[in-house]
Amino acid sequence: MTAYKGTVLSEGVAIGKLHLIQERYETLPSKSVNREREILRKGLCKTILELKELIKSNQENEEYLNFQIMMLEDKTLTEEAEIFLIQGESAIESITKVFQNYQEQLKISSSFYLQQRAVDFSDIEHRIIRNISGNPYKTLQEKFILFAEDLPPSYLIQNKENLLGVITRTGGDSTHGAILCRQLNIPYIVASILAHEDDLIILDTRKQQVMVHPNQKTILHYERIIKEISEEKLYSIPHLGYHFLANVSSNTEINKVLEYGFDGIGLYRTEMIFMNANHPLSYEEQYEIYKEAVDKCKDKPICFRTFDIGDDKQLSYVKSYHKGIDNYKNNKELFITQIKALLMANQYNNMKIMFPMVSDVDEFIYLRDWVYKIKEELNNSNTLKIGIMLETKSALASIKDFKDVDFVSIGTNDLVLDIYHIHRDTQTKAMKKYLNDLVSKLSEVVDFCEENHIELSICGELAAITTALKKFMKIGFKSFSVAAPAIRILNKIYKEVNK
Ligand code: PEP
Ligand code: MG
Repeated sequence: MTAYKGTVLSEGVAIGKLHLIQERYETLPSKSVNREREILRKGLCKTILELKELIKSNQENEEYLNFQIMMLEDKTLTEEAEIFLIQGESAIESITKVFQNYQEQLKISSSFYLQQRAVDFSDIEHRIIRNISGNPYKTLQEKFILFAEDLPPSYLIQNKENLLGVITRTGGDSTHGAILCRQLNIPYIVASILAHEDDLIILDTRKQQVMVHPNQKTILHYERIIKEISEEKLYSIPHLGYHFLANVSSNTEINKVLEYGFDGIGLYRTEMIFMNANHPLSYEEQYEIYKEAVDKCKDKPICFRTFDIGDDKQLSYVKSYHKGIDNYKNNKELFITQIKALLMANQYNNMKIMFPMVSDVDEFIYLRDWVYKIKEELNNSNTLKIGIMLETKSALASIKDFKDVDFVSIGTNDLVLDIYHIHRDTQTKAMKKYLNDLVSKLSEVVDFCEENHIELSICGELAAITTALKKFMKIGFKSFSVAAPAIRILNKIYKEVNK
């Protein structure tokens, strides 16, 4: 047996045979311009049909697949390929070159989010080329663990019924593939392993490990663990005095949140709705989305974070270099539209609005009063709570000024970056360096919120990490907002701390 360490992008344990997908193509010389043009046209048509077929059984991924179809139907793609066809390149070479250009532009982008969208482009590219060369992505009939260079989201969608786990050589936390794996409870590790088709593999994200050719004893051990996990009911246990909340980025995720028995939504990342749409969302479009979300939650609280664009998350039509208040001052119309749509959707008085990256109380008052003004103009008298995400060093240092907030939610991802300069991708690994210090700083926030009757929760990733969560519970945090599958962790630590 050989064990390889890797980076975990989605939690879980899996055992199964390996299936490799490799994107290497023979580049045959061009036959004639007309012939290659026809080959390309057929390849594009086949790819569009394939994606339309996929949508029928994958409504929840319609947005992603439609975006791909739209790209394929856009005549820019064929026009750009035409330039290479005329130069005598084959259909495959032409498509490769067009996508190389797209990828290069994305990779040099300073936006981490956009860099990770590069995988979405290679997904379309490979699907087209596979169709041109008569080697389309297969829907596998048996359960398997995938090993690939990166994870093409459309391949994952196509094979989600039989996909036990994923290993890729490259990949990041905010790629579509990683997000989908977390939603579907498919374990995913980034690791460079040496293995072949049909090799037996064990994937254990608790050990951040991939095992190739495990011995019999290990196999039996893991078969038992997997059976236990599969029989475990994913539902919140009774948690008197505590609030188990969920982080979501879309309305489809809310179904799972309710199914798992969460008490509400602690963080709705509204910018993700913007980022997944390919155009600025109108008032009507936003209203429909927020209303649907609020309707689903009904009597449970739902906390919408105003769009958090800037730094690692850029959008072409939003003038924003950094996350925070300038985001709204520089994009007034967008902010007003979002707030109007939110306020009008607040029909059950269960809404909270939260501002990210606030750095001092004046910023909070400025934004809160702006929301109140819009509310007054709309003649809207529904109950609304307004609060902040505590995720900057300066807000933490001046926490005592924030007596007027309705609630505080700790964003550990950005807070740890701001205080300790540790990037979010390595915060779990580097926890020893900062956790005790962070906990002691946060215990002052707990005291302040208690004294002033301010609701307090944690919505950063650390709330779903066992060691950190235990410490947070011990210093008096009672409300946590995590990704839905982390309900297991909340249950486990709640039981341990409240024995
Ligand atoms: C955070 O910073 O901890 C957080 C929850 O917000 P995001 O990860 O969306 O920046
Ligand atoms: Mg943040």
